[in-house]
Amino acid sequence: MPEVRLRRALHARGLRYRLDRRIGRFRPDVLFPASRTALFIDGCFWHGCPEHGVKDFRGPNAERWRSKLTANADRDRRASAELTALGWQVIRVWECEVKRDLGAVTDRVYDLVLAARS
Ligand SMILES: [Zn+2]
Repeated sequence: MPEVRLRRALHARGLRYRLDRRIGRFRPDVLFPASRTALFIDGCFWHGCPEHGVKDFRGPNAERWRSKLTANADRDRRASAELTALGWQVIRVWECEVKRDLGAVTDRVYDLVLAARS
């Protein structure tokens, strides 16, 4: 699972985090309370990755799929906006980024979390 792999890599770098905590109406995948940073690892299909998200649904359920994935994307935007308004730094990564280059994603998240601490 990309999320678990990324969490393990961040933990190995010395970052400590919390899971399953609500901030406002949302539940980020990983929280770094010491730096008020919320991390989301977004699945390419469900969250509509520009590279791997489905752009054109066909068949009898096409409309249902379209509206479901549009609702997901709207929810992601609302979550980022609400958390930012509450003073949290929001980081979003795509699952494909983690699969492609775990080291690069780990570096990016690590730097952002540390920068927010000071
Ligand atoms: Zn993707």
